[in-house]
Amino acid sequence: MQLRIPGPTPCPPEALEAMGRQMMNHRGGEFAPLLRSITERLQRIFQTNGDVLLLTSSGTGGMEAAIVNTLSPGDRVLSITNGFFGERFSDIAVAYGADVTRLSYEWGTPVDPDGVARALREDTAIKAVLMVHNETSTGMANDLERIGTVAREFEKLLLVDAISSLGCVNLPVDDWHCDVVITGSQKGWMVPPGLAMVSVSERAWQAHARARMPRCYWDFSLAMDSYRKGQTPWTPAVSVCYALDTTLDMMLNEGLDNVFLRHARVGQKTRDGIKALGLSLFPDEDYASDTVTAVSGADWLDIPRLIRVLREQYDVIVAGGMGKLSTKILRIGHLGYVCDEDIDLFLEVLEKALPQAKK
Ligand SMILES: *Cc1c(COP(=O)(O)O)cnc(C)c1O
Repeated sequence: MQLRIPGPTPCPPEALEAMGRQMMNHRGGEFAPLLRSITERLQRIFQTNGDVLLLTSSGTGGMEAAIVNTLSPGDRVLSITNGFFGERFSDIAVAYGADVTRLSYEWGTPVDPDGVARALREDTAIKAVLMVHNETSTGMANDLERIGTVAREFEKLLLVDAISSLGCVNLPVDDWHCDVVITGSQKGWMVPPGLAMVSVSERAWQAHARARMPRCYWDFSLAMDSYRKGQTPWTPAVSVCYALDTTLDMMLNEGLDNVFLRHARVGQKTRDGIKALGLSLFPDEDYASDTVTAVSGADWLDIPRLIRVLREQYDVIVAGGMGKLSTKILRIGHLGYVCDEDIDLFLEVLEKALPQAKK
């Protein structure tokens, strides 16, 4: 089976083996060095001197944590959306009583940093900017570096969903002025679902001290207090920590730059292969993601049928679209444990499957 969805992604055998280890006392002497060592390696990959907290949840829990820990009900928030996950981030902020203005772009088209600057100039009451770095729903990466510069210029808190990009593409959290950045274990980290990893800047801690949204499980103060004792406030996903301990070593041994280059290479290879087969990319190609490729439908192509043929006849699993794109696009994950040969193999199979998916 070839699992080519943008998460959960395949795990290397070393990670699966590590998961098979016996449990340990998460309040005992063994867990503390494991947690500290994982956290320190995460800080290197996040490229931050700030804190990184390990939360036991899927990525969405990390998004919720970012909001409830830095904002108060009634706070004005600019939520930038150009896809399904941007909408989700906005919805969470609304659910907790933030006063949300959506700055929306067509799905698949990039966020315009000048548009963000305009919105912040027009509404000086805005406290925080929410955005998705890599829109997994459309296969597109937003220009976080430039948007981060804008957010800093206007002195706004910047909360970033980098769930499907961190650990795969360059995202220097401090240099790009990101205050809270969220990622999830089952995307680029080569381990199963179960952990959200969240960075917290000094400015985010200052906002946290004033933030009044209700929180308990997600409370960053509780997480930080526990971390000082080498613990997490609640029972962590111990087995996923074992796996992450292994894959963080794999990533750092490969070298961060090499990890980024590998994702850039498989991303380009996927896009080239898709175009060579006469298919077209869904998003603006200049902003195409290196971790997930979204392919547009065509007059002659039945996307749901293609997905079924790939699964039933070739044992290759790809994803369809999300929300309003559900039957309109196909998405191919190429993040985490992926190499050039995986993509060569995938493209060969896709070529064979295509004639069977004609309308
Ligand atoms: C996967 C993903 C999420 C959601 O993460 P869950 O782990 O399913 O909660 C949010 N945002 C982006 C960009 C994602 O790729």
